[in-house]
Amino acid sequence: MTAVELIRKKRDGAPLSEEELRWMISGYVRGAIPDYQISAFLMACYFRGMNVEETLTFTKLMLHSGEIVDLSEIPGVKVDKHSTGGVGDKVSLILAPIVAACGVPVPMISGRGLGHTGGTLDKLESIPGFRTNLTISEYKSVIKEIGLVMIGQTNQLAPADKKMYALRDVTATVECIPLIAGSIMSKKLAEGIDALVLDVKTGRGAFMQTNQQAIELARTLVRIGNGFGKETIAFITDMSQPLGTTIGNWLEVVEAIECLRGARGRTGESADLMEVTHVLAGAMLMLGKKARTVAEGIDQSRRAVDDGSAYRKFLQLVAAQGGDASAIESLEKYPLPKHSIEVKATGSGYVGEIHPVELGLTSINLGAGRARIDDAIDPKAGILLKKKVGDSVADGEVLAVLQTNNESAIELARKRIQDAFRIHSTPPKRKPLILSYVDKGGVKTWM
Ligand code: URA
Repeated sequence: MTAVELIRKKRDGAPLSEEELRWMISGYVRGAIPDYQISAFLMACYFRGMNVEETLTFTKLMLHSGEIVDLSEIPGVKVDKHSTGGVGDKVSLILAPIVAACGVPVPMISGRGLGHTGGTLDKLESIPGFRTNLTISEYKSVIKEIGLVMIGQTNQLAPADKKMYALRDVTATVECIPLIAGSIMSKKLAEGIDALVLDVKTGRGAFMQTNQQAIELARTLVRIGNGFGKETIAFITDMSQPLGTTIGNWLEVVEAIECLRGARGRTGESADLMEVTHVLAGAMLMLGKKARTVAEGIDQSRRAVDDGSAYRKFLQLVAAQGGDASAIESLEKYPLPKHSIEVKATGSGYVGEIHPVELGLTSINLGAGRARIDDAIDPKAGILLKKKVGDSVADGEVLAVLQTNNESAIELARKRIQDAFRIHSTPPKRKPLILSYVDKGGVKTWM
């Protein structure tokens, strides 16, 4: 077998056998197959896809490229959540402490920013001192102690995905159902969960732009999860505009903290973010056997914010993973970026659209993400949204504020942000945020 033969076979549309996929994946992890051949292989997968059996095999091989953590000594049904990725999607930062505060253990392995989307790991690492690179034994002891842990992939957990994820990010090979499914499910199955809730994003800011693609991805993820004996539910949620009001790592942490403190989220600011958060938390609490229905779980989730227990759990998490909890308690102490620039409307009416990909890419240019695998991130860089879709806007009113330390990025960013907002003369039609969900019984409409 050679890499060239297997790339050619996939390029020409033939499915690869388990042996061939194993050869490719293990060769890559060992360093025997270089990035440029795996890049070509990924691009062939992007164009040719994988059949159901290949996708399952691919996931299994990615999973077995590392260790599978055994959390059976920890009582309770361990449940995690994963999003397929969006702009301004800081749901995990809010939801994980909520669910843990309600008594369901949450072991979470997250990814970094990918394409135009942000990553939970980069957000967590903007908290001074916060360590996401725990060893497996530290991971186990944190979840044992506080019922919650949030880390990145180590070289032990799904290392094939760790390498491939970074490569896909810079080779335009993210938007591919079998690759996304293998990536997400190998990480999630490695972390020791009993059940899983997925947030499959759809709309212009999602990797799956149409509802049909999102449903196909959701079905694939649910099939894999249930195939591995883990009860799995996937929600299809809207990503046609950024979620909440911030894009960029520390900005998103601040928004999440304010939501956990109950200062935002019920109405107005961050209401969309909290609607998605409570529904996903409700499903996790149901799978974790703390609620009989998702609706009952949603009530518990709201109570955990109102009584402060979710916020206290977040502080515990920060302290347990080496972070400076005083930076969370006194947000004003965090250093400010050098530049903070208002972007204003050039007409009046209603915000009809906010192009999420443009905002995601602009925030990367401001320093919040990577253009190359080894780029460093500026935790303070990003965009604050002052208007969301449906808001009325007057000529000259502030649409957004960009924050950066990189002066040379400002002018282009200002123009891109302005163009990302479309002002219409009439208010747009309201779209539902939660569109449907998929469980082992198939696709169902939500409420
Ligand atoms: N999230 C992941 O973990 N992997 C993907 O490929 C896409 C989103």
